[in-house]
Amino acid sequence: MIGEWLRNAGAVTVLTGAGISTESGIPDFRGPQGVWTKDPQAAAMSTIDVYLADPAVRRRAWRSRRDHPAWGAEPNAGHRALVDLERTGRLRAIVTQNIDGLHQKAGSDPDLVIEVHGTMLEAECLGCGRRTPMPEVLARVDQGEEDPPCAECGGIQKSATISFGQALKPDVFAAAERAARGCDLFLAVGSSLGVQPAAGLCMEAVESGARLVIINAQETPYDRLADAIVREPIGTVLPTLVSDTC
Ligand code: NAD
Repeated sequence: MIGEWLRNAGAVTVLTGAGISTESGIPDFRGPQGVWTKDPQAAAMSTIDVYLADPAVRRRAWRSRRDHPAWGAEPNAGHRALVDLERTGRLRAIVTQNIDGLHQKAGSDPDLVIEVHGTMLEAECLGCGRRTPMPEVLARVDQGEEDPPCAECGGIQKSATISFGQALKPDVFAAAERAARGCDLFLAVGSSLGVQPAAGLCMEAVESGARLVIINAQETPYDRLADAIVREPIGTVLPTLVSDTC
């Protein structure tokens, strides 16, 4: 059934979440092994106000950026299946909540990947907005700077990701909304769909007439809207679904 919908869709928009990268060794937040499931306080530490106010939180954040499992991670079969879907000409966009860059590393066209929560591959100054490749800033951390300030203005830097309390980039989210409204099949993959406004894209797609398919191990608040739900591992189910359509 889902294979047939994929085959007949003129435009498919995929929303991905942390669950597509767990099989690459990057833990999600809310799954059984999730970072926040194991350490509920970590979520409270992820707000922009706490980050700005507390140098100890920033020092801890720089250490965890340096040690992040994404630096050694490789794309998995789920990411590669979306590259194959792109080759069929039916992929409208990948709207990703992930910050790990694995869709692009797998070979997805960067112009089709909309990173609504930003990227950990760059640092951003919260004062002047200057962007710096993250490895350059992490090299300073390795050399002993515990909270490296912006090289331009001395401001506080952070990964170029969206923390709680920070607004999404309006142009980036507008592109995600256009992709959600402009598809006939919306695939939500590996997301607990608990973070707004990204999760609300499911509703926007359905209201615009798209079918909604959710591939996720756990229940989500949007399950009742879905035309089909798949609870199997993404790295197994996504390649099978896509290969059926090629
Ligand atoms: P989440 O942790 O809230 O939900 C992930 C969901 O994926 C869970 O419901 C889990 O059961 C499911 N899942 C995990 N592995 C799966 C698999 N192999 N097959 C099927 N289902 C699987 O993640 P979210 O909804 O993306 O929200 C978390 C936020 O944290 C996002 O905004 C994102 O920016 C950020 N985040 C990103 C990364 C990353 O870039 N890889 C990792 C962790 C968190």
